[in-house]
Formats: sequence, structure tokens, C-alpha cells
Amino acid sequence: MPSDRVVVIGAGPAGLEAARLAAELGNPVTLIEKMGVAGGMPIHSDYAALTHHFRSASEAMGEMVAAVTSNDLVDMRVGTEVASVEGELGNFSVTLTSNGSEESITAGAIILATGFKHFDPGRETQQYQYYELPDVITIAEAEKMLKDENFVTPSTGKPPERVAFIQCVGSRDRQIGNEYCSKVCCGISSKQAIEIREMVPEARVFIFYIDMRMYGYWENEIYWPAQEQHKVNYVKGIITEILPKNGRLVVRGEDTTMGRPMEVPMDMVILAVGMEPSAGTTAMSSVLNLPTNKYGFIETAHDILDTVTTTVPGIFATGAAVGPADLDDSISSAGAAAAKAVALLRSAAVPV
Ligand SMILES: Cc1cc2nc3c(=O)[nH]c(=O)nc-3n(C[C@H](O)[C@H](O)[C@H](O)COP(=O)(O)OP(=O)(O)OC[C@H]3O[C@@H](n4cnc5c(N)ncnc54)[C@H](O)[C@@H]3O)c2cc1C
Ligand code: SF4
Repeated sequence: MPSDRVVVIGAGPAGLEAARLAAELGNPVTLIEKMGVAGGMPIHSDYAALTHHFRSASEAMGEMVAAVTSNDLVDMRVGTEVASVEGELGNFSVTLTSNGSEESITAGAIILATGFKHFDPGRETQQYQYYELPDVITIAEAEKMLKDENFVTPSTGKPPERVAFIQCVGSRDRQIGNEYCSKVCCGISSKQAIEIREMVPEARVFIFYIDMRMYGYWENEIYWPAQEQHKVNYVKGIITEILPKNGRLVVRGEDTTMGRPMEVPMDMVILAVGMEPSAGTTAMSSVLNLPTNKYGFIETAHDILDTVTTTVPGIFATGAAVGPADLDDSISSAGAAAAKAVALLRSAAVPV
């Protein structure tokens, strides 16, 4: 007898939305999360406010978690991982491990939502001395400082006077093999620049970019206000190195608009690191036998008409496991994955 259960792997924004919708459509769902709490990167990485409405990340994710925990059809398992999967559409046997114990459950369909990791800016081809200079941080670390409402220069504990963002760190970079644009970092940096200007009004904030990529409402709700109301300085240029000098950082590169070299002092530098597939996405691609693209993200039909179907019947993938994605993308593709999984289980091919 085929199962109508949907197993969702990963309880970030995409997995939570897929679980919510599959259960609202009437199917039982087991939602597996390897960490101790659900919520994905916005919770595990302590994001402050989310684009584009500046809504608190913990509040928004709290609402998503409540929507699944309040539904009796969802069995959420935190601190749990998938050890193996056997079987086929309608009758997958999924072995779970938690605290050293093992359990097998049967599922008709599986939705993979294991997300992304932040690019490690200490990778050897990177020139920004991330692991050597304490005042060089990432946008993920800046999120935490903003959430804690304690935005200070790490080495001194004092509010910074000059802050620089460097865009496209680990993205759009042929040398390291990440040729893709990570989609969110221009918006996130601009959002953080606004938050820094509000929290430390005396600080001057600079964003060094190759070209700014804002789309939809991020343009008028973040990018323009950053310049017009919050006086954030956007400089088109390429930064080649950061050096410590007289207790500050010297940012060196080329102003590409003016076509001349530049060297500017800063107290803090924030690297706009991009997205790479998470370790969980890599591990699950081999457990589920799912091909990945050259960057390690899960290969889907990748068609405008179908962004979530994988090569294995009954297995769907969503969110940032499939490629760089913002919350709108992740939640929309999660809805599509849940609807397609439920529709497949109800189709004549799999009577339930
Ligand atoms: C610094 C930063 C700030 C951002 N801020 C915004 C913003 O303001 N607005 C916006 O639209 N987007 C923002 N984003 C993008 C946003 O974080 C992603 O769109 C979103 O998190 C993707 O959701 P996801 O569920 O696909 O993946 P994730 O958030 O990565 O969640 C994946 C989940 O799967 C779990 N998992 C992984 N492997 C396994 C496994 N093997 N078994 C079980 N569970 C597993 C993880 O623990 C995690 O809970 C930001 C990104 C960055 C880098
Ligand atoms: S979103 Fe902006 S910073 Fe991020 S990779 Fe694309 S262009 Fe670079």
C-alpha cells in the first residue's frame, strides 16, 4: 500500500513552508532538522532584520515554525538526520538517526530543503586576511552584531567611524569556480548599511561594488533609501587587498569609474560572502542519489515551468539547496515542491 506521507529534510524557511503546505493539503508530514531548533540560516546565523520590510528574523521564523508545530499532521523531529533512503515513489523507507538511536519510516515522497552555507572568505585564493585581521568580518557576523544591537569595532570595542562593505566575495569569481551571482548580498549589504547608519549615526559607510544587483522592491525600498536618506556611499571599484596600518585598516584597490587606484582608511570591513551548498545538501545528494550541478547545488529540471522536480521520481528539491535564493524564492519554490509532491501521491499512478 503506497504511503501518503511526505518527508521534508531541513527545517529552514523552505522546509518549513513545504511542510506547512503539504499538511494543509491533508497529507501527513515528517519534518527532519539536524540542528536542535528549526528556522534555518536566519535562526542558526542570528540574522537581525529581513529584507525588504526590515522585519525581525526571529519573529518571522517563529511564525513559520508555529504554523507547522500547530498542525497535528506534522511530526517535526529536531536533532535528527537521515542515514539512508531505500525504495521508490510511493514507498520510500527512510532511516532516521537521533541520539544514537535508529528508526525507519515509510514515505510516499521526499522534499529536500537542506539549504546553503556561507562562503568561507579565508579560502586561500582570497586576499582579505579574514582570519588574520579581527576587524574584517562577514555579512553573517554583522547580522549577529546588529541583532545584538552592539555594532562595534571588534578589536577596540568602540563604535566604528568608517565601515566598508566589499561585494561579491566568493561569487562571480571564475578563479575559485563560483561563477554565479549569490543574488542576496547586494540587498543584504545595503540593508545592513542602513541599520549601521541608524545604530551608529556618526559612522560613514561605504559599499565597494562591481555592479549593484537589486531586483523587484529591493531597489526602491533599500537601495534608494540607503543613498538618499541614510547617506551610504556607493563606490564602483575593485578591492585587491586589506592591510593593517596605524591601528586601522587600509583598503586598496581601483576606483573603476574614475579609472584610478584608491587607498582608503577604515575601522571595519564587512565581506559580502556568497552562498555555497551546505554540507547537508552535499551529503543528502549522495544519500538520495541526486545529481548536482558543477557548483554542488542539486540539479532540478531547472525549467521556468518546473523548478523543483529532481531526476528521481518522488523526490523534489527546494530553496537554497537548488541554488542561491532569497526568502521569496525559497518560499515560492517550497510551495511548488509541496503541491507537486502531494499531486503526485494523489495521481492515478500512486493510489492512496
Ligand atoms: C547574511 C545573510 C542574510 C540574509 N538575509 C536575507 C534577508 O534579509 N532576506 C531574504 O530574502 N534573504 C536573506 N538571506 C537569504 C536566506 O537566508 C535564504 O534565502 C534562506 O535561508 C534559504 O532557506 P532554505 O530553507 O533553503 O535554507 P537554510 O536557511 O540554509 O535552511 C536549511 C535547513 O536545513 C537543515 N539541514 C541541512 N542539512 C540537513 C540534513 N542533512 N538533515 C536535516 N536537516 C538539515 C539546516 O540545519 C537548516 O535548518 C540572507 C542570506 C545571508 C547569507
Ligand atoms: S548579489 Fe551583489 S554582491 Fe552578491 S554576488 Fe551578486 S552582484 Fe555580487
